[in-house]
Amino acid sequence: MRFAVFAVVALAVSPAPPPPRSAGLTVTASSATPRQGGIVAITVRSERPLPELVLADGDIRSRLERGADGTVFRGLYGLDLAASTGPRRVSFETPDGATPLAWSFHVASGRFRVQRLSVDPRYVEVPKEELERVKADQARVAEAYRRGSAVRLWTSFARPLEARSNGNFGAPRIYNEETRSVHAGLDLAAAEGTPVAAAGDGRVVLAGDLYFSGGTVLLDHGAGLFTQYFHLSRIDVKEGDAVVKGARLGASGHTGRVTGSHLHWGARLLGARVNPEDLLALPAWPLSRRGRGSLN
Ligand SMILES: [Zn+2]
Repeated sequence: MRFAVFAVVALAVSPAPPPPRSAGLTVTASSATPRQGGIVAITVRSERPLPELVLADGDIRSRLERGADGTVFRGLYGLDLAASTGPRRVSFETPDGATPLAWSFHVASGRFRVQRLSVDPRYVEVPKEELERVKADQARVAEAYRRGSAVRLWTSFARPLEARSNGNFGAPRIYNEETRSVHAGLDLAAAEGTPVAAAGDGRVVLAGDLYFSGGTVLLDHGAGLFTQYFHLSRIDVKEGDAVVKGARLGASGHTGRVTGSHLHWGARLLGARVNPEDLLALPAWPLSRRGRGSLN
């Protein structure tokens, strides 16, 4: 129930040490010790109005959402499930290129559970004749991620279906005694044909059949956040469709490289593979009345 703790912290409490502060800026994070695969809600307050504020972490640049008077900026930040544990530093930049504030913290272990699977080798190796298809799928997915909206489209999240998760997010998978992959999503038990709903408001950036993930829908929720729905037996949306939270995307199944029916639910935030269950703990965040998103 680590995500429940996250929600409480997000709603009420500043981290115990005084929040980092410089040049009239203060940062508040929903977790003082984010973990691998975790999502952190960030609020930066400025004593004077600023036109924009950009979160910078290595190659990642993400413009935070500006409040109406330019003194409050908010956004989500994600740590990839394979992020190094230990000290990490994120900075916030103003348009003049200055870095007025750095947020330093410790990345905690995701404590992922190892999954040992004994399977037919045909589930592990990609047959030679399918390699081209796998490459084409990867290019298609990468292209879908590039089509994301710069502004936030979501306001809150819900499970795509009512089911127990088996808690296998981030699990290193050992197939036939060999570590072959890391499970970058969460599997939800679901009989074939169970309706699958959009976890939040967004837009369909990919809907189709892929070699590994089978019937696949990718939703863009804006500002660098996407959710993934794999192994669907049917798809009821098409690329470009706007969807609201709870809208039917299709039905669960066992298409692609899987052995049984379930929904694989995943999330990506600013390129990081994050635990989709963390989305459920985020407080509702209304969109500005000026339209979708409140940038500019
Ligand atoms: Zn899965």
